[in-house]
Amino acid sequence: MVERRMKKVFLLLGVLMVSGLGADPEAQNIVPKWVQSGFYASGKRTIDVLVIHSTYNASGGDKYHLSAILKQFQRYRVAAHYLIDRQGTIFQLVRDSDIAKHAGRSALPDGTGNINSRSIGIELMNDTTDQPTELQYQALTELIAGLSARYPIRHLVRHSDIAPHRKTDPWNTDWEGIRKRLIPYGLTF
Ligand SMILES: [Zn+2]
Repeated sequence: MVERRMKKVFLLLGVLMVSGLGADPEAQNIVPKWVQSGFYASGKRTIDVLVIHSTYNASGGDKYHLSAILKQFQRYRVAAHYLIDRQGTIFQLVRDSDIAKHAGRSALPDGTGNINSRSIGIELMNDTTDQPTELQYQALTELIAGLSARYPIRHLVRHSDIAPHRKTDPWNTDWEGIRKRLIPYGLTF
């Protein structure tokens, strides 16, 4: 009897610890920056894939200028749901429930396509010569943990994993390190 009660206490402690680590999405500092193109409005959808990308402003000037990057998205009629800047600020561009055009022609390792319809896209601001910053890694970890608490995420993939002949991003990203950072949240991908 006592043992069973102890088990309950430990379970409760575990839940409290995980939520203390930032799994509560409301606790995260997400800045709305809604875009007007690059997505489809959608009804209820099941989200079970997270796709990580890199992006930068390739049009000249500051390569990490937020509005220049958003203009680029607009020009190509693409968008992701989230964009994390070099300081680790998370901007939300598209509502989770809507389908953002970020994956393009792509397929999961098991061959299933139509990834935009079931995924959330996350862009890290970095180019082919820079690595993501420590603040970006921290923000990304918390964002993944928060989204995993809300949706039944089964796949955490890089754009290059799902479009290997077309895409090379996210660039210079410590993928193994990201997976390790997620372990304390009880997440293994
Ligand atoms: Zn990409």
